[in-house]
Amino acid sequence: MSKRIKVFILAVIYSLTAFSTFSVQASKVTYSKSLQQIYKSRDVYKDTQKRLSEFNKNYSNITYLFSAGKSVQKRDLSVLKIGNGSKKIFINAAHHPREYIGTILTLNQIQNLLESYANNGSIDGQKIRNLLDKQVTFYFMPLVNPDGVQICINGTQSYYFNANKVDLNHNYDALWSKKITSTYSTGAKPFSEPETQAVRDLCLNIEFDLTIAYHAAGDIIYWYFGQQGADRTRDLAYANILKTTTGYSLVSSANYKSSTSGFKDWCVQKLKIPSFTIEIGGKRGIIKPVEWSYYNTIWKQNKLVPVRVAKQLMKQTKFNGDKTTALIYKNSLFRQGQILSVNGKQYIAEKAVPMLAGKLSINQQNKLNKTKISIKKTPYLRLETLAECLNLKFKFEKTSNTVYIS
Ligand SMILES: [Zn+2]
Repeated sequence: MSKRIKVFILAVIYSLTAFSTFSVQASKVTYSKSLQQIYKSRDVYKDTQKRLSEFNKNYSNITYLFSAGKSVQKRDLSVLKIGNGSKKIFINAAHHPREYIGTILTLNQIQNLLESYANNGSIDGQKIRNLLDKQVTFYFMPLVNPDGVQICINGTQSYYFNANKVDLNHNYDALWSKKITSTYSTGAKPFSEPETQAVRDLCLNIEFDLTIAYHAAGDIIYWYFGQQGADRTRDLAYANILKTTTGYSLVSSANYKSSTSGFKDWCVQKLKIPSFTIEIGGKRGIIKPVEWSYYNTIWKQNKLVPVRVAKQLMKQTKFNGDKTTALIYKNSLFRQGQILSVNGKQYIAEKAVPMLAGKLSINQQNKLNKTKISIKKTPYLRLETLAECLNLKFKFEKTSNTVYIS
């Protein structure tokens, strides 16, 4: 063998190794800003977006970044999906602007999971590759209220609303009633706001098995909203795991109706899934963002939360209903029309995609018609054919029951 060929083969082997040895690649990951810098930034939204993109770029074999919708001021409500397991956990933060230390916490939880995955490591004795490849998928939305957070950090430290002056965590449809004062606003009706609509549609499309919303402060956990029987037992078990993990106390289930129409309340009452509000950042109320000096303690208390609830979720045997199929179209959650799976193929109601009318050639239309089916007299288009006609990539991920067209 000539020396030249030998060198060439070695170079090929070297580059293949470099690509396949994920942990080597992962250990080199650097970020443009530290978490502390993001917290103290004048543009937390932009820097959070940047960090999510960096996660998505560096760990693309296990992540997927998409937008669940837009805020009042048209900022993206970004969601980072991690994993391919069939059970789905949704963790969000910053419904309330001044509580955005939760944004930093969720970014840190994401990083911890991704690094552990890349290094084939364990968290709390749980092999993270086993968890994320087969069992559980996490969906993180670190900024539910990006407009409000920007208002908070650029002058009004105590800010509590979205850009329409609505308290997003009193805008969900769970014992909602109209109340609007200068310091309190439930909005004109349940889900009046684009942010709560996006969170609602995300939940209805993806069908989470458990949700956690981070707020501040108090070191307490809300878990109850009228559950009875087996649901109460199930949810109290999770609540006790969270209590042990964080060291926080559980809020008494008596008088739970004194605060209503929150995200957790809606998840418990309408979706009938375990759902928790965790108040981080010390045993006190706050009227401005939590000081950074609290962060180390917050991290220690909440580092294990995602994996602890995931482990309990794997033990849970009874789930609510069948999974619907979600469609992520060009990196955004597609919100009109329901996707149906028939014989392993995915279909969308023709009327749900009106923007196609007139855009397809006769050939494309004919092609689409060949795989069209009718369900209860309603015409449905096959998504795979639709993607082909539009020259787009189609992917169906069976474990998370999600269609990607990009
Ligand atoms: Zn709050």
